[in-house]
Parts: sequence; structure tokens; C-alpha cells
Amino acid sequence: MKLYEKYPLTVTNSLSGKKEKFESINPGFVGMYVCGPTVYNYVHLGNARTFLTFDTISRYLRFLGYRVRYVRNITDVGHLESDADEGEDKIGKKARLEQLEPMEIVKRYTEDFHTVMREFNILPPSIEPTATGHIVEQVRITQELIAKGLAYEVNGSVYFDVKQYNQLTHNAYGILSGRNIEELMESGRELDAQNEKRDKRDFALWKKASPAHIMRWPSPWGDGFPGWHIECTVMSTKYLGEVFDIHGGGMDLKFPHHECEIAQAQGANDKPPVRYWIHSNMLTVNGQKMSKSLGNSFLPSELFAGTHQLLERGYSPMTVRFFMLQSHYSSTLDFSNEALNAADKGFKKLNAAREIVQQLTHPGGGTSTHTDLEKQLSALCEQCYQTMSDDFNTAKTLAVLFEMASRINDFKSGNASLSLVSAEVFSRLQATYLGFMQEVLGLLPETSGNHALLDGTIRVLMELRKRARTEKNFALSDRIRDELKAIGVQLKDGKDGEMTYSLE
Ligand SMILES: [Zn+2]
Repeated sequence: MKLYEKYPLTVTNSLSGKKEKFESINPGFVGMYVCGPTVYNYVHLGNARTFLTFDTISRYLRFLGYRVRYVRNITDVGHLESDADEGEDKIGKKARLEQLEPMEIVKRYTEDFHTVMREFNILPPSIEPTATGHIVEQVRITQELIAKGLAYEVNGSVYFDVKQYNQLTHNAYGILSGRNIEELMESGRELDAQNEKRDKRDFALWKKASPAHIMRWPSPWGDGFPGWHIECTVMSTKYLGEVFDIHGGGMDLKFPHHECEIAQAQGANDKPPVRYWIHSNMLTVNGQKMSKSLGNSFLPSELFAGTHQLLERGYSPMTVRFFMLQSHYSSTLDFSNEALNAADKGFKKLNAAREIVQQLTHPGGGTSTHTDLEKQLSALCEQCYQTMSDDFNTAKTLAVLFEMASRINDFKSGNASLSLVSAEVFSRLQATYLGFMQEVLGLLPETSGNHALLDGTIRVLMELRKRARTEKNFALSDRIRDELKAIGVQLKDGKDGEMTYSLE
């Protein structure tokens, strides 16, 4: 029996607003698409939370034994400043401001994005397609929608006809966001005289490029560039099929972006493209929405280094990952120094138990004697699966891991004896604790990979300090000691000029 059969998953589907039993289209396989970043600026923390959510979801699906094809795109053209097909292309604008080629902008911020993803231990998706790499497909689907009477061309641009779509699909527009087409008619700005759209609810599939527009491709309607929504319809269905299992993204993309994705795919292929829509919630700072205009939005790098005015100090990427996982993905997540400090302490506890459980060795032998302790430990192992299978509840899973950590500490302190549990139960405890910490939640030991480097660097500095002291250059010797102390490295002078260090 596969793990995904033993621990059936439930998922809150944004389409129904309910928790539903998850059944993949092809048994044992899951296709998942997540809207990736628009690479015109440094990736912000809200985006990082979205990608961390879907990283954890794909990790758990794999842990359960599913084969997962995870597609996360890069938006490198077509995302205009306003979601309503107005304003400049975000990448084109940045290129103009920085006097660079748009592809230089794309390269710079894609690299930044990948660096941040690595820092958070967010695994790369199976496929990371780009919008500019799929212009041909976007032109083709636009032609199909025109042929079906669901889109129209005006002066070199093509728009999706929302009213017509709604009539043909028995009012399917709004199915995801719960918006009603009549209400949409009443809200928002009226079309001005120059607007080419027949109806203000229509959205662009293809835009004509003005002579000054740098990013442009030939099309049956003249030179232009694709609309934002169409790229995701093309890239998701190209790699996952016309109907696929999971589509994810941040809550802010539900409308209009995801609503338009559904309309385009349903319009072109006559079937709803996605079985389960999953949306991750927003970040707040001290209870307020995180936003640039409020000055309370910080970049991941500022959070790691503690360089934003709202932060008392920096927090390591793994501490932040742990902090984010302490909330369910569908809840808002509030950043504050107190909460981050508490997360730092909590994560240290889990790490300490990780080290202990790796070092403990069972005395060997013994078959299960079904002691109370054995039952409790087995129940905790079960709960890890149950909580994660319950709509990927990382918050509850961490609570179970804390409980496991205190049992592990009991073995170390002698409060409980390993002889009370069979080798089999002990190895299950070990495998479950490590598996959920590292593989499912992606929480690596803090110093992993950097420890040897850090240790080597400090030793070089200690050698230099010893030499300075022999040469009676006390100014330099003190400076090395003080500057190391300022960044949390405490040097201790022992007998005969020996030196040791500790990290604060
Ligand atoms: Zn998208």
C-alpha cells in the first residue's frame, strides 16, 4: 500500500471553498502549476511565502509516494503595471529606467529570485518555463479563441469577450473569485473614449506594440506582445495537459488573473482546466498589510541581515522558513520581532532534538512490548502524516514535532529509557522526525554546508591574532577580537597563548 493511499489527503479547494478529498487524475501522479514571479524587481517576502507553501506541498506529495510534475513559470513579458491592461510593461519600464535591455533585467532578477529560493531551501520546480519562450503558443491559442467567437481584434490588439464567454458557459465567469458579471459591470472605471475594448470586463490576450515598445514579436495582428493571463494558460496546459490536478498561487492572483486563466482554457478546450485551486494568504507586519507605501515591506535579504528599520536583528533563512510554516498557508502571517524571536527559540529546540535523535543508539534487540511509551511514540509518528494530510497543516505538524522533541530529550536526560521501546519503534521515531523536519518541511540544520567554511575562516583569523600578539601589535590583536565579537564570535584566550572560540 502506498503512503498516499494510507494517508488520504484533503485539500481546501478555492473553487468550492471547501475541504475536499484529493484524488489525482492519474493514480500516483500529480501535475501542479504555480504562477511564478514577474522578474522586474527583487523578490519580496510575500512571494517567498507563496513559493515556500507550494514547495512544502510538492515535498509532501513526493514524500507520500506521488510522482509530481511541478511547473512554476517565470513572467518575463506581458505583466502590465495595472492588472487592467493599462500602463507600461513592468519589465519594459524597468529596462527604460535602468537603461538596460529588458533581457538584462530579466536575467538579473531571475538570478536574485533563484538565490532567495536556494536560501530558503525551496527546491527548483520540475519545469520553469518563460513567457517569452512560449509566444508561438500564445498566438495560436489567441487565434483559436477568435475562431470560436470568444475574442476579437481591434487595431492590432486582441481582447477576450467576457460577456460572450459567460453566455456560452452558463455564467462560468466568476466561478473562482465568486464575482458576478453584473456586479463587475457596475464596479470599476468606465471605459474612456480611446479604449478599444467593447466591454470594460474584457481583457487583453495580445497587445499591439507602439513604435517605442522594445519587447515585441510578429503576429497575425502585427507586432505586439502577449497579455499577462494567457501565458499561464499556455504553459500550464502545455506541460500538464488540458486538465491538471493543482493550480496554486498567492491569494491576490485569484482575480483577475486566475479567473481569466480559467476562462481562456475553458474557452479554448471546452473543459475546466484545474481540479484543485490552492491559494496562499498574505503577510502582515505588526498587524498591518505589508506594502511598500506603508514602508513596512522588507526584502528577504533585509530580513536575513536585520537591516530594515522595523527589525531588531537578522534572522536566518531557516528560522524564517520555520516561522512561516508555523501558520497554515491559508491564514495571514504576521511578522513582528517578538514572533520572530520566539520562532528562533522554537527552531533551536527542534534542531537540538534533531542532533540528539541522530546520535542516540538503541541498545538493540527487543520486540515490541507495547508499553505506553511505545504507543505514544507510534501515535505521534502517525499524527505527523495525519496533520500534513489534513490540508497540509504545517502548523499542527510542527506542534507534533515539538511533542516528539520532548520525548527525544527525555531519552537523552534519562527521564525515559530506550529499553522501554523496541528498536523498531525507535527507528520509526528517528525516521519520522528526520523525514518530516528535513524532507517534508525542508528545515535543514542551521550550519549545514557553511560550518566548515566558518570554522576555517575563524581559525585563520585566530592565527593572525596570535602572530600580532607575538609581534606585540596589540592594536591589531584587539581589533580582531573586538570585530569578531561584534558579529557574534567570542574568542577566549587560554594558557600558553592558546585560543578557542564560541558562537553566540
Ligand atoms: Zn499565472
